[in-house]
Amino acid sequence: MSLVSDCCGASDWNDSGICSYCKEHADFEDDEELDEVPLITSLEDIDYSLLDNLDFDFDTDDYPDFSDAFILSADYNGREMAYSELDILNEDAEFVDKKLREFLY
Ligand SMILES: [Zn+2]
Repeated sequence: MSLVSDCCGASDWNDSGICSYCKEHADFEDDEELDEVPLITSLEDIDYSLLDNLDFDFDTDDYPDFSDAFILSADYNGREMAYSELDILNEDAEFVDKKLREFLY
């Protein structure tokens, strides 16, 4: 667990309750609580509008039916998706197929 000051997001200076950046008293909060977005654990968790930078693995010999295509990497809400999340996303074959076609054409 790491604490960050509420004024600058800097660390607690020598555990003194003083912001290490501005050297003034500050309140500290756990930055993990602030920043960490819970991992996606099911398809219902996915907000498709937050997906970006999709990259695919597919076999061009399968054209036009890319049944084996899958998403290799993607960003979600500005962070890189974990492998476990990509697995879940790839369960949505219809979405993968649709996005692959947008990606190709
Ligand atoms: Zn400060």
